[in-house]
Amino acid sequence: MDKRQKFQILYFIATISVLIGLVDANAEGVSYDEMGADWHEACASGSNQSPIDIPLSMKSSSANANRLKKNDKLDLIVSQGIMNNVIMKDLGTTYQVPFIDGALAFWDENDELETYQILQFHVHAPSEHTFDGKFYDLEIHFVHKHFTEGGLAVISVQFDVEDGGNQDNDFITALRLNQKNLTGLNIPAMKLFEQLDKSKLYHYQGSLTTPPCSEIVTWIVVHDPQPISSAQLKYLDDKWKKNYTFAHGHGNNRLVQPLNERYVYMRVDPSQMDSSQMLWNSFLLITLFSAILILF
Ligand SMILES: [Zn+2]
Repeated sequence: MDKRQKFQILYFIATISVLIGLVDANAEGVSYDEMGADWHEACASGSNQSPIDIPLSMKSSSANANRLKKNDKLDLIVSQGIMNNVIMKDLGTTYQVPFIDGALAFWDENDELETYQILQFHVHAPSEHTFDGKFYDLEIHFVHKHFTEGGLAVISVQFDVEDGGNQDNDFITALRLNQKNLTGLNIPAMKLFEQLDKSKLYHYQGSLTTPPCSEIVTWIVVHDPQPISSAQLKYLDDKWKKNYTFAHGHGNNRLVQPLNERYVYMRVDPSQMDSSQMLWNSFLLITLFSAILILF
């Protein structure tokens, strides 16, 4: 069996498990009345839960600042397919867009390369993660499944009227929150990732933020708040935070969880990385995405 055949079999297995995973990643029926404090299972007993407060620097006032580690290995590359003619599901507790044409490559704090395929994205307003204690207006989770193993990787992207700028965001406009028909959407996801400053990267190991809160998530948090207009945000706030019948004045965000023994890794300038390592990383990435293109 040659390498390409092996990759095709692995990709087939990954796609099957991705389809099973789509069923699991469903937040329908979750109650935010107590912002998750009344949830059970790992949500109550786990010690590696999400979301957390991200300490933005060593000098941060965050209680987690003493668990922040600088790292020059962290790196993220996203290759997102064109999200044309997709459907957005209104699950009541979130909006979710299932989509499997996209992948990410992530180098963790040990310089280990892991690759993941996208499953879906969904929204939280206000943000679930806080940043030196601050909430942003909106956080979108791009949920990915490991190509060959069981874990997930979630990219967190934040939007904020104040810190990102009060202006219409094309990505949010494409969600057509002002309309009832959520089919046939054309969402410029790759444009969003191209705009993001992916050097502002934080990483930690955590959990799903909805029951069963399984501790299987590699969190990749890009701290680069994007613009959103107050008119766009109003549709989300009216649906959750300002809708007293939803969760008595709460949004669809879980309470921030203790970091406990974990570390948060913050990317630093990778110019410290030697050139042979960078060449090897580039070679691996080009090989991976060439294989994906051939298969699609
Ligand atoms: Zn989420």
